[in-house]
Amino acid sequence: MKRIAVLTSGGDAPGMNAAIRAVVRSGLSRGWEVFGVQHGYAGLVGGEIRNLSARDVGGIIQQGGTMLGSARAPEFKTIEGRTKALRHLHQHDISGLVVIGGNGSQTGAHALSQMGLEVVGVASTIDNDLYGSEMTIGVDTALNIALEAIDRLKNTASSHQRAFLLEVMGRDCGYLALMSGIAGGAESIVIPEVPTEPETIAQELRSAYERGKAHAIVVVAEGAKYNAEALANYFKEHREELGFELRAATLGHIQRGGLPGAFDRILATRFGAAAVAALDRGEHGVLVGLNKGAITTTPYAEVTGKKKPLDLGLLELAKQLDG
Ligand code: ADP
Repeated sequence: MKRIAVLTSGGDAPGMNAAIRAVVRSGLSRGWEVFGVQHGYAGLVGGEIRNLSARDVGGIIQQGGTMLGSARAPEFKTIEGRTKALRHLHQHDISGLVVIGGNGSQTGAHALSQMGLEVVGVASTIDNDLYGSEMTIGVDTALNIALEAIDRLKNTASSHQRAFLLEVMGRDCGYLALMSGIAGGAESIVIPEVPTEPETIAQELRSAYERGKAHAIVVVAEGAKYNAEALANYFKEHREELGFELRAATLGHIQRGGLPGAFDRILATRFGAAAVAALDRGEHGVLVGLNKGAITTTPYAEVTGKKKPLDLGLLELAKQLDG
């Protein structure tokens, strides 16, 4: 009988629970024992490992966050930390590990697999910045939350002929800003991949004002050269250049919470089951992801350290459609 463990690491993402449930129940259906590691790599280093039954993962598929908890664990970046982690797994006779997480977490998983452990990663981050998967767990839900904020801001902005800066998450990746900006019909989208000066945004807002728009929404990625706060400070001094009165809002961690949508629950369920299936056929040192509609596995060596490209043609499309 095989014994495997599952953990969630790094930034939490809606849908992680559905992935945990799928890993546990796919493992149990093979007659394996499945263990949960609390608090990501911190719990692995500290030995926080417990047996999980089918009932333990009942009633979680609809919940945001992660029932196992997550953490940032600097100690895991050291060889000593990872050796401790391996020791705890050996003590429980666990030979396989599923790591549900984003870029940093998968880099850590790669390091662990290079030390001989059978590791399979599950692509999970709201930032969608993970190479090896076109979509990651949590992105769709986070996008819909950003979209709801844009729609609401548009209502109030139109009532007062205001411009709004809305900062969304994404670390140094502009995916969430770009996609929510397109879906929300934003007048301007500011992303780290295309460094934009405040003067350019001022011109865009002025132009929207002169074209008679009742509102203007600028979606700003948190990792952009000028984030919402920096832009708001700049515009305070250049108020007359805009036409509109300006307000700024930052979505922050609100974007991480909430119930995972259908897309994320299904993606996470398929990813979790695929990770166990990979371990079952002896495939490890790989990341489970979604590519061209299919669930795929990509070797860690091809994933970690790479930057996922953003389709900048979509930014051009958004500009074209800003009538
Ligand atoms: P995310 O997985 O959401 O990108 P982080 O970047 O914070 O989140 O990474 C989560 C954890 O993964 C870190 O706290 C650390 O324990 C581990 N990790 C990140 N980078 C590395 C690395 N280069 N080597 C080993 N472990 C790492």
